[in-house]
This record gives sequence, C-alpha cells and structure tokens, in this order.
Amino acid sequence: MISRILHRGDFLNLGTNLMLCFLCGMTSGDPTTGSAFGLMTKYPLIDGHNDLALMLRILHDNRLSQVDLHNISKVATDINRLTTGHVGAQVFAAYVLCGAQAKDAVRLTLEQIDVINRMCTENPELELVTSTKGLNDTNRIACLISIEGGHSIDSSLPTLRMFYQLGVRSMALTHTCNTPWAESSSTIYDVYQRENDSLTDFGKDVVKEMNRLGMIVDLSHSSWATARAVLQISKAPVIFSHSSAHAVCNHSRNVPDDLLHELKENRGLIMVNLHSGFVACHGRANVSIVADHFTHIRKVVGSESIGIGGDFDGASKFPLGLEDVSKYPALIQELLKRHWTENELSGVLRHNFLRVFKEVEKERDRQKAKGTLPSEAQIDLAEVQNPCRLVLRRPDHQMTKMEQMYSKGHSEQVGPRSLVWTMVILISCLCVLMDH
Ligand SMILES: [Zn+2]
Repeated sequence: MISRILHRGDFLNLGTNLMLCFLCGMTSGDPTTGSAFGLMTKYPLIDGHNDLALMLRILHDNRLSQVDLHNISKVATDINRLTTGHVGAQVFAAYVLCGAQAKDAVRLTLEQIDVINRMCTENPELELVTSTKGLNDTNRIACLISIEGGHSIDSSLPTLRMFYQLGVRSMALTHTCNTPWAESSSTIYDVYQRENDSLTDFGKDVVKEMNRLGMIVDLSHSSWATARAVLQISKAPVIFSHSSAHAVCNHSRNVPDDLLHELKENRGLIMVNLHSGFVACHGRANVSIVADHFTHIRKVVGSESIGIGGDFDGASKFPLGLEDVSKYPALIQELLKRHWTENELSGVLRHNFLRVFKEVEKERDRQKAKGTLPSEAQIDLAEVQNPCRLVLRRPDHQMTKMEQMYSKGHSEQVGPRSLVWTMVILISCLCVLMDH
C-alpha cells in the first residue's frame, strides 16, 4: 500500500487530495470530510458493480471512437468522475438482457466484453486486470470484467471457460430471469420455472467449475434458495456484488439476516448496492439510509463481510448526495461520522474484496495442484429447452427423440416460444433500468 501511495500518479493525487480535503474541512466545518478523502487516497475503492458498458451499448452502440470516456453525458460513470470518487478499481458488468437468453446471449456478451476490454486498454488512465496481483500492482484505475447473468454462458461449461480466458473473473448466476439451472430473485420472467430445484445438478457443475477456474460466484439477482444451495457447495467465498440489507429495505434483491450468517461462514462478501429502490423502500433515499445498511450488516455479521457495489448506470435513481461515482467520499464521510474505524473502512473500501478474490485464487491453485481436470458435464437437452441448439453426433450414433428434434436446429416449439421470447424482449427493455 505504501508503494501505491508513493507512485508518481498517486503521489500527485495525494498532494491534491490532501489540499482539497484540507480546504473542504475548512469550508464545511466538518472535521470528518478531510479524513474521508485521506482514507480513500490510502485505500482506493474497489467497486463491485457498474453497468457503464450497458449504457455504452444503449447510447452509443459501443462505438467508443465517438465517446470521450473522460466526460460522458447521460451516465453516472466516466474517467473524470471515477478519479474524483477515488475509485481504484471498478468491476464492469458485461451484461446482456434476459431477452437474449436461448438466442444470441453469447455473442452479445462477447461484444460487451470487447467494449470493456477496449475501454480499459485504449485509455492510459485505465488498466484491465485479472488477478489480485493486478489490482495491487497497478497505479491506474483497474478494471475487472464480470458477467451478469448465467444466461450468458448458454448452459455450456466450455463457454464459461472461454469467458475466463477472455479475462472474466466473476459471474452472477442469474439476472432477472431463471436459467435452466439456477433461479432468479425476480419473477418477472415466466421461463425455466421449477419446483424446489433452485440449483440443478448442472447448476452445481457450474459452481464447481467456477471454483476450479478461479472465477468469483456472484449471488446478486439469484433467489435466496439458489444462494443457499450455492453456499452449501462452493469451496471458495462468494459475493453479492450489488445487494443491500433486507432488514433495512425488504426488497427481494436484498439479503436477509439468516443468509448473511451463511455468507459469513463462507467468508464471503456483500457489496452494498446504492440504487434508491434497494436502499429506501419508503421515502427518498439519502446518504444516511445507505449508511444504515452498512451499520445493520456490521451489527449482524461484522464489517469484514462488507464491500461496496454501487450499481451505477444499472439503475436510474440514486440517493441524494450519491448520484454518481464521484460521490463515494460522501458515503465514507457518513460512516466516519458514525465512528467506523480506519481498519473497518479499509476493509469495506478494498481489503475485504481482495481477501475474497485471493481465497478464490487459492482454491483455483489448490485444485490445479491436485490435478482437477476441466468438467465435461453437459446439460440435459430436456432441461435447456433451447430450439436454437444444434446437436451434432457421429452418423452411426442412435439419436434419442430429443436429439433428433435438436439436430434440425429448430423444433415445432418455435411458434409459441418465439412469441414468448418476443414478450420477454419487450419486458426486458422496459425493466432493464427499473430492476437492476
Ligand atoms: Zn444488477
């Protein structure tokens, strides 16, 4: 950490920030302001979730040549504001709408990974990293890539592995739609509904393969039952990359206390979401109600289980005083006012995430040393129900009826199903900014 501070860029920032915080403290008369900036200079934030890549697609069709990433209008994230907000690392979501499930989700995910990759390799202020070492060594704003929703892998472990090869280090098992193997916290999509089967055998294979690869399992957006099932089997700590406390705001995207206890046993992390709809179920959200989530979670499981996952650009409404990524110091200031210690806040800002990621890497290394091979598990065709799948077999292979159906590349189900998916796409477009 000392070496970070003494680095050229940081050294300049440190000087500027010390001056700024001194002035802020002087002008506002608030003695904690200065220490919020100072603390964040010492422990730059690792933010668990951001959807700028989605907005780049929606607003600019991913044409980065037409965007000044330092100053982007109509979004809450750009390089200038990340710098002002003392964000040291940002997990960027490669998210595609649930409407793409069983269609072109894999292509769209690749395109979102591409835009994050370009954004973070074509700008000198940013650096794409894939490890805890990368996070610790860089003197730039580090970018990590996550996938938001298991529909992105189209129920395929080889696809999951190739995403890892492309630098993806975290995946949320679901978004607002169930996948054929895991359940969403949302019920807005009427797809892949199952009775008492929140994580199927293939779903367990996905979790185990993520453990083997060294990819962080993200339970934000998954149902509580799915989360519990994952916590039973995951050999590495997991995260909720952008979820808040259910006891403070009883939204299904938030985490109830009993699940927080299970998360603590797993040594995992809940990265508090700042979206108004999840932090204030009633009334206008502000910095104080956000701090209530932190205080509640600390009371239940301790500060070592807490991080920050802002969800900027994945939702439309944010609390007064926390409108974009430049405002994070206001949150830290509020926690300082509530007597959170430097040790607790250094954990919340970055060390808790680094610990979880390090343990995920260690599990990967342990399995490698043990000689664990890539899983060759495949999902049952009857479970995946995807008419776009083409099944290829040797000419002398006796195909089952199901395989015969899929070997044609489409099935009789296309008519009614395409209608369902058209509805799903329409609902997706409406819901993407409402329920993120
Ligand atoms: Zn989300």
